[in-house]
Amino acid sequence: MNLCEQTENKFIELFGVEPQLFKAPGRINLIGEHTDYNDGFVLPAAIDKAIVFAMQKNEGNLFRFYSIDYQEYVEFEKVELLEDAPFWSRYLLGVLAQMQKRNLHFEGVDCVFSGDIPLGAGLSSSAALESGFAFGVNALFDFQLESIDLVKIAQKAEHEYAGVKCGIMDQYASVFGKKKQVVQLDCRSNTHQYFPLELKEDIFLLVNTKVKHSLASSAYNKRREECDTAVEYFRKYYPNVTALRDVTDQMLNEHIGKPDALSFQRALFVVNENDRVVKATQALLEDDLQYFGELMYASHQGLKELYEVSCDELDFLVKETKKIPEIKGSRMMGGGFGGCTLNLMKESFVEDFKSQITIKYFDRFGIKPEFYLVNIQNGVESIKTC
Ligand code: ADP
Ligand code: MG
Repeated sequence: MNLCEQTENKFIELFGVEPQLFKAPGRINLIGEHTDYNDGFVLPAAIDKAIVFAMQKNEGNLFRFYSIDYQEYVEFEKVELLEDAPFWSRYLLGVLAQMQKRNLHFEGVDCVFSGDIPLGAGLSSSAALESGFAFGVNALFDFQLESIDLVKIAQKAEHEYAGVKCGIMDQYASVFGKKKQVVQLDCRSNTHQYFPLELKEDIFLLVNTKVKHSLASSAYNKRREECDTAVEYFRKYYPNVTALRDVTDQMLNEHIGKPDALSFQRALFVVNENDRVVKATQALLEDDLQYFGELMYASHQGLKELYEVSCDELDFLVKETKKIPEIKGSRMMGGGFGGCTLNLMKESFVEDFKSQITIKYFDRFGIKPEFYLVNIQNGVESIKTC
């Protein structure tokens, strides 16, 4: 039984009626790391790992949710957090709360869901949960919300009900993703442009380091401060600079090492990384995956040496790939200090690579890495039949 059938069957078993079905994917970010809060560009794409939702209005006012993966059932009379409710229910309630804030009227909703996005691995299972549920509620009650509204509702749900002040990329990719296309998102205007991704004999493979160093959140805040320091400095000389997005190579060249060595280093990375996103989309238009891969390596090097958000495990995995001709590019993906590397490699080489790197990584760190092979897929959508 596939994910869809399993979800549909469980819904019928629990609620005795036919549900409507929806699907929301996780995402990868091909390049453009730590550029989002600098008003820059990112390049995410929706993947073929997703959460499937079976949903229907019910006769009453109850919100009844069942998570197949956690085998937990919970019901609410109001859109209100309950102390002992499972954490996953926050994402769904968070979405309903945002809809209420917009004065959208709805009554009871039943929802059963399950997914195959690894949780907490940096593939944004939480964004899929919010986006998919928001899409479903919008469809059930015919609210006619625009896609961008679903993105904002989903993002705010995460801020206010899960307590994670995330950017907009994850929800954006889950909603706007398209098969065989990447989404170049402009984090200043919150608009996007699609670029074609023709992988032919290549494929993206994620390698999960299975580590998450505790430095991550304090370093994140520190990087944001360092970026702000650089922006303040450059604004004194160039009044149009309101974010690192506006700083150019020339400006950097005229102010080497300013306002201090560290802030300069961070700014240099962000300016370069933003530029790499633009170059990467150009490479896609020119069907030049070799160059795309080089940009991935350059991104990793910048994250490691200039932005200093990598770690030994990530660096090890990236470095190992450099010796292998079948691999075009590799870099850490996400905020850093753990999580996954993203690798662009020949599909026929994947199995060999997995066995080689498992041994080497285990020898070095005593941990078995996990692997996720991903294909680029559509964003959130209705499923007619399983
Ligand atoms: P990420 O978004 O990187 O996968 P998060 O920590 O942001 O990691 O989100 C993971 C959380 O989202 C889980 O702890 C769970 O509460 C919720 N979640 C995601 N997918 C599912 C699922 N299939 N079933 C139930 N809850 C889920
Ligand atoms: Mg998340």
